[in-house]
Amino acid sequence: INAVANDIEISQSCIPKPIDQVAREVGLFPDEVELYGQTKAKVHLSALERLKSQPDGKYIVVTGITPTPLGEGKSTTTVGLVQALGAHLHQNVFACVRQPSQGPTFGIKGGAAGGGYCQVIPMDEFNLHLTGDIHAITAANNLVAAAVDARIFHELTQTDQALYSRLVPSVNGVRKFSDIQIRRLQKLGINKTDPATLTKEEVNFFVRLDIDPSTITWQRVLDTNDRFLRKITIGQSPTEKGFSRTAQFDITVSSEIMAVLALSDGLDDMKKRLGRMVVASSKRGEPVTADDLGVTGALAVLMKDAVKPNLMQTLEGTPVFVHAGPFANIAHGNSSVLADKIALKLVGKEGFVVTEAGFGADIGMEKFFNIKCRYSGLRPHVVVLVATVRALKMHGGGPAVTAGVPLPKEYMEENLQLLAKGCSNLNKQIQNARMFGVPVVVAVNAFKTDTKAELALVVQLAKEAGAFDAVECTHWAEGGKGAVALAQAVQRASQTPSNFRFLYNLELPVIDKIRLIAKQIYGASDIELLPEAQEKVAMYTKQGFGNLPICMAKTHLSLSHDPEQKGAPTGFILPIRDIRASVGAGFLYPLVGTMSTMPGLPTRPCFYDIDLDTASGEVKGLF
Ligand code: ADP
Repeated sequence: INAVANDIEISQSCIPKPIDQVAREVGLFPDEVELYGQTKAKVHLSALERLKSQPDGKYIVVTGITPTPLGEGKSTTTVGLVQALGAHLHQNVFACVRQPSQGPTFGIKGGAAGGGYCQVIPMDEFNLHLTGDIHAITAANNLVAAAVDARIFHELTQTDQALYSRLVPSVNGVRKFSDIQIRRLQKLGINKTDPATLTKEEVNFFVRLDIDPSTITWQRVLDTNDRFLRKITIGQSPTEKGFSRTAQFDITVSSEIMAVLALSDGLDDMKKRLGRMVVASSKRGEPVTADDLGVTGALAVLMKDAVKPNLMQTLEGTPVFVHAGPFANIAHGNSSVLADKIALKLVGKEGFVVTEAGFGADIGMEKFFNIKCRYSGLRPHVVVLVATVRALKMHGGGPAVTAGVPLPKEYMEENLQLLAKGCSNLNKQIQNARMFGVPVVVAVNAFKTDTKAELALVVQLAKEAGAFDAVECTHWAEGGKGAVALAQAVQRASQTPSNFRFLYNLELPVIDKIRLIAKQIYGASDIELLPEAQEKVAMYTKQGFGNLPICMAKTHLSLSHDPEQKGAPTGFILPIRDIRASVGAGFLYPLVGTMSTMPGLPTRPCFYDIDLDTASGEVKGLF
């Protein structure tokens, strides 16, 4: 098994169909499609409205065992499976995948369009600007950040009356509230629409958000790996009169607005979520929202095109939606609800939508079920769990696997003992999927170093662990043909009744929800809340956010909180360092350990290999 060329060469060797042809093939009307050149298009949400009475297709989620740092092939398998179902078994299919961040593309990881003969093409378009959604998020996010600091500055330097006359300017001698200001008054319990009737005290309430700068959780973002922005001082110019503070930049895809985009089910819902985003607390301890800052409408304007899913295609011409790419630790790590919803209508009752959940099943899949499916109302039919021999050997006690370093010999030659031992992780992740009542098909993603006996052993142990089926796949080297057996297993599994259930009820106390995930999914014996986390539980519960679902920010390299603990550890106490809230997106995220939200560049970043052939205009060296 060996792909003959690297990813970008394979991608460029295939001439994509004009995207308007792909749009026609999937049943979209011309007025529902906005072309962005020849190979990308945005799909209007009106398609969902038109198709709303159509039945949905089968909903398949691709997840994985606990991976090595190299990744075990979830994206590759997502694409391979739709190529097999669509191009070889002639089913209606759609793949729904995340849009990658540009940071890692130029940094350590390279592109994320799948790999080998299973890719979304053109992979350079996919990995770079696409249709500008990430840029829109950067713009929207930074507008909120600017609004926070400007508001603090103006409140500190002006009297109530001066603030009032600027916030509610007099036009031809008449003051008038805007809609967003009337919303704020209502929130304050002031049911007045005539600015002239506000009492002095009401004016004070209205004009002062009274943001406590030490509580600001909203950061500026940029889609570049730039470690020197991890901690900065802002407001150093004399024009800011000494109101400087330390702040930070995060990478754009970690912005709450990315998670909002991914979880919204329409324009109106997106606008509401954007308005609910909490940026800080007031000095009285009340949450201050984007709506309080008056910025909701402007955010919706900046995001109005980003909300439309992006249509592309695979190497074998099957349709793909690329839409949203939230972090999988501090956010839920899944592509958009809207893309899945439109795709499920387009494929029809007998068709298949294959969507991917980030990281391993303990994280991406758990969040797919408990957060994404809860908000979307969609019910999955099959879980595809991707496993590799190399990751399982690592779980069995094999030496560390490190990106950029050749694999140790344990991974290059047959070792059934290590492999059998490491299947403890596969077993646990199968149980994790089954806990939600959905049948599991294990996809054993074959590498050229795997032996027949090794692949057979994984298949056998997966079936013994309760998988509906387990199949060896060679799609990376062979394209869809190599995943036909997987596709047939998925077809069979999708016929069995799925008894989908959530792991927890939202009404449970915050601590109980976290404990349930830790014990049932990770194998912990209990959780331990550090003081900061305890304070936050009390604060969020008091602020009325206790009923939100939980989005664990945990390492993906172990089922536990310690990336060194491989296999299926048990008996550990999971420490919860702190808890934060993404109220607009709609979840609380407990921090298990420290999570970096701004990657850095290595000594030799991927950009060394990236080039433009100025004669042909071709992009070289993306992989
Ligand atoms: P994930 O989505 O789980 O992070 P990817 O699908 O992005 O994983 O795959 C990670 C990397 O491994 C990609 O560079 C991909 O091309 C490569 N890869 C995946 N499957 C195989 C395989 N069977 N043989 C060789 N390389 C593979």
